[in-house]
Amino acid sequence: MATSWLLSDLHLPPRPSPLRETLLDWLRSPRLREAQAVYLLGDVFEAWIGDDLGLDWYRAEIDALAALSAAGVAVKVQVGNRDFLLGAAFARASGAVLLADPVVEPLGGVPTLLSHGDLWCTDDRAYQRWRRFARWRPAQRLFLALPRGRREAIARGLRDSSRAATRVKPDDILDVNEAAIAAAVRASGARRVIHGHTHRPAEHWLQSPTGPVERLVLADWHPQRCEVLGIAPGGDWWRQPLTVRSG
Ligand code: MN
Repeated sequence: MATSWLLSDLHLPPRPSPLRETLLDWLRSPRLREAQAVYLLGDVFEAWIGDDLGLDWYRAEIDALAALSAAGVAVKVQVGNRDFLLGAAFARASGAVLLADPVVEPLGGVPTLLSHGDLWCTDDRAYQRWRRFARWRPAQRLFLALPRGRREAIARGLRDSSRAATRVKPDDILDVNEAAIAAAVRASGARRVIHGHTHRPAEHWLQSPTGPVERLVLADWHPQRCEVLGIAPGGDWWRQPLTVRSG
């Protein structure tokens, strides 16, 4: 048994970026070959509007993930609200397993509930309505059948309106709803929860009928902070800062 690593919300752009170099350095580091698993919990890619384009835009990352899985490290992926169109061709090319959201995985011997986190933002009704539509397979199939230019234009429009909506929403409805998480914990029997999405890295405790449950929020990445979460075989966890590549 070895360390498992979790990361989310890198929001890697489809163009050169120090964040992309930082991730590639880490994925290619010889020590990571000894890891048990790497979990990408969503929004690793800022733009994913079909595997055909994504595999082209993010070729280096996909190749690095493929090398890692070929070396025997389990690569497991949940989609986020930016890269929810990650599909079967991505999984084949990277060697990754696409996980349901939420899902329970035994991490360091602790049954751990993993999610990107956006499905627990239940106070944001408008977002949840959009999420249900965006995850509806027929809508996805229609979108993916459009030519590249149309898909890019639609994605641009959605990003702009999401930015505008986020600006006017009260702060607290953009965070997760504690009751929604407590219900998911009860249903799953998990002893720990790990998610991203909110860009509010922190440690929380919640009460469950079977005792306190730890909730870890992953850090989003920006040039001043690129961080992964490690979990040792015994269940201890820590936040590991990565050295950010400049330019
Ligand atoms: Mn997100």
